[in-house]
Amino acid sequence: MEENMITLTIDGKTVKAKPNTTILTAAREAGIDIPTLCFLKDINNAGDCRMCIVEVEGRRGFTTSCITAVAEGMVVHTNTPAVIEARKTVLDLILSNHHEDCLTCIRSGNCELQALARKYNVRKIRYTGEKIDHEVDDKSPSLVRDFNKCILCKRCVATCKKVQEIGAIDVAERGFNSCVSTVENKSINDVDCTFCGQCIESCPTGALHEKESTDELWAKIRDPETTVIVQTAPAVRAGLGEEFDLPIGTNVTGKMVSALKALGFDKVFDTNTGADFTIMEEANEFVERVTKGGVLPMMTSCCPAWVKFAEMNYPELLPHLSSCKSPHQMFGALLKTYYAEKEGLNPEKIYTVSVMPCVAKKFERSREEMKNKDGLYDVDNVITTRELARMIKEANIDFEKLEESTFDDPMGEATGAAAIFGVTGGVMEAALRTAQDTLTGKDNTAIEFKDVRGGAGIKRATVNVAGKDVRVVVASGLKNARKIMEEIKSGKADYDFVEIMACPGGCVVGGGQPIKSSKIRSEVDVRELRSEALYSIDEKSTLRKSHENPVLKKIYADYLGEAGGHKAHELLHTHYVAREKYDF
Ligand code: SF4
Ligand code: SF4
Ligand code: SF4
Repeated sequence: MEENMITLTIDGKTVKAKPNTTILTAAREAGIDIPTLCFLKDINNAGDCRMCIVEVEGRRGFTTSCITAVAEGMVVHTNTPAVIEARKTVLDLILSNHHEDCLTCIRSGNCELQALARKYNVRKIRYTGEKIDHEVDDKSPSLVRDFNKCILCKRCVATCKKVQEIGAIDVAERGFNSCVSTVENKSINDVDCTFCGQCIESCPTGALHEKESTDELWAKIRDPETTVIVQTAPAVRAGLGEEFDLPIGTNVTGKMVSALKALGFDKVFDTNTGADFTIMEEANEFVERVTKGGVLPMMTSCCPAWVKFAEMNYPELLPHLSSCKSPHQMFGALLKTYYAEKEGLNPEKIYTVSVMPCVAKKFERSREEMKNKDGLYDVDNVITTRELARMIKEANIDFEKLEESTFDDPMGEATGAAAIFGVTGGVMEAALRTAQDTLTGKDNTAIEFKDVRGGAGIKRATVNVAGKDVRVVVASGLKNARKIMEEIKSGKADYDFVEIMACPGGCVVGGGQPIKSSKIRSEVDVRELRSEALYSIDEKSTLRKSHENPVLKKIYADYLGEAGGHKAHELLHTHYVAREKYDF
């Protein structure tokens, strides 16, 4: 192995690297940082921005380190006065067309451009001239595009094209007029975008962000006439702490609940309880389809970006999707009906809020199908993990010093099965736990289905459920979703049950989660660290199967009746619509 390694010198340090490694990677592996802007590990390394330039002895001019391979005996200097001056010029040129509104920018304090301007001591904009004024696109319910803040790094374009294989955005025009655009320059709302938000996670600046909805929420919290009830998705507790400088993947459930109470919510519930209902209904639907000859394979439907993708790209396969609403929608529906009746509240005076790791959930909650028979939305507002963090900061709550507290009764209990919903493979595993017990009629001890765990984009397995081989596949990322759909469409697939999540790795790395810089994404596996937090919650839970949740048992007994029954269908199930598709 050793003889295949290449030896070079970087900043006077002898470094060994595998052949074809770039100078950038070799330097970072040796603990020498080189700044980047357009580079995003495994996604974008076009060498466009030139922030990562270095000097290589024997070569004229500068060398772009993210696209140049190491060579035997190479001598690299990453931080000479000439390199520093050239990087300052790169920044000057970017800033010459920037609107300089950092103070009010949503990414202020977490912007890679701002961090580099600080690092390189940029004190004034050297080049000034005409600036392009782009109209802000805020028509979609999920994301906002403000290309006045765009630095044309193309990280979003690469993410949408290469990771998701959607291609809803691309670079249009040339030279000074270049910008990231959509087909016919339409709003992102009116093209093939799924609202997965992965482009937001990739953007180094404030050019892409969630559609904020905290102003309306503050007003409702301050309105004494309104009962404001919040629920939080599993992945939020594994990410929120990062906004307060806690290590990636710290489980902050107790502090998060305390913070929500301090913010003034009337009740703080857990979307995990809703996830237990989803599993109950979904496992029941799966068992029905298997035993009564329904449409198979059955596909999960709790990811709204995946659902929108299927509606746009595979309308003929929509009968495969489970009719179950997603966990927060089920829970919202129960809050406006069961809970309202139980507590003697007027549903019209209940305002339900979901804290989600997701921007597609903002779209999902606004779907017409998500209204009840009285015309009320199940969920009135969705905020992201990032928006919750901003609210906590705005309220001057010292997050780290908060005592831990627990979710409110009577709807605050959830199982370990629900906690793993935030991870790719988690919904499948939770459903198999319940399907197994339903089919055998007993309490099986096999709980962990490890074949569906891990970060692989596609995981196929055959699992034994009640003596029957069940062929399952778990896919995350829309590129992988498309592969599975094409297999099914061509008749080549023989799956029984399919789980799909739009975000590669699942909701733990969803489009509403804390944004990590390119450097951090190069160094650590954010998905893995946040996933571990959720698996740990599951392992420590005394109840690890959704159907064991006492809250759920009570609500089925007192109110819903049978899983899959009439009332459950009315409140907890939905339908899908074929959507128009646009070609770029
Ligand atoms: S939200 Fe997803 S689908 Fe839409 S542009 Fe961004 S990456 Fe592409
Ligand atoms: S929108 Fe963001 S990610 Fe996309 S090119 Fe502009 S700065 Fe880069
Ligand atoms: S995987 Fe999760 S975070 Fe991503 S779009 Fe789907 S539901 Fe939202």
